[in-house]
Amino acid sequence: MAVRIGHGPALSHCAWPESVTSMQGRDVSPGRTRAFVEVAIHEGAVNTFIRAESTVSLRHAEAKAFGRYLAYRSCRGHDFEHGVWRNGSGVCQHCRMWSPDVLEPLERCVECSAPTYYSSYGKRFWCEKHESSRPRHQWEIDMDAESEVDYDSAEFAQALSDVLTAVAKAGDK
Ligand SMILES: [Zn+2]
Ligand SMILES: [Zn+2]
Repeated sequence: MAVRIGHGPALSHCAWPESVTSMQGRDVSPGRTRAFVEVAIHEGAVNTFIRAESTVSLRHAEAKAFGRYLAYRSCRGHDFEHGVWRNGSGVCQHCRMWSPDVLEPLERCVECSAPTYYSSYGKRFWCEKHESSRPRHQWEIDMDAESEVDYDSAEFAQALSDVLTAVAKAGDK
């Protein structure tokens, strides 16, 4: 997908709250030229991410996104359901706002059965407390091996001592 992206004070046509972070751009994939606006908002009862597209203009995409924000803001009270999400995100039945961490995750820790989406291996999940018993992926094992420095080893102590001695000598001169 070819996307041209602009950052900065992009959303200038609507009265967004100051906490908004946004991205705008133009998706120029063949047969798919359209402007888009992406907005992350955490303001009062609105905690969500909005993406709106327009084949007309960036300004039009922004207006669409702003319309959704206004609908979310004027919701009489969010009432979340899981929808397609299993990680604890939910969608409000009234205003259709998606929001993270509003429900209990639908997965359960294999050790203690607590609802969790903390970490996974294949289709199994582990809570934060039992994360250490999760099997490691090969890339994690490789990364640990590469970065392994044994700070308790005699070799490390000697190397550090050599460096400190050299620094002290240099200081004496
Ligand atoms: Zn709502
Ligand atoms: Zn657990």
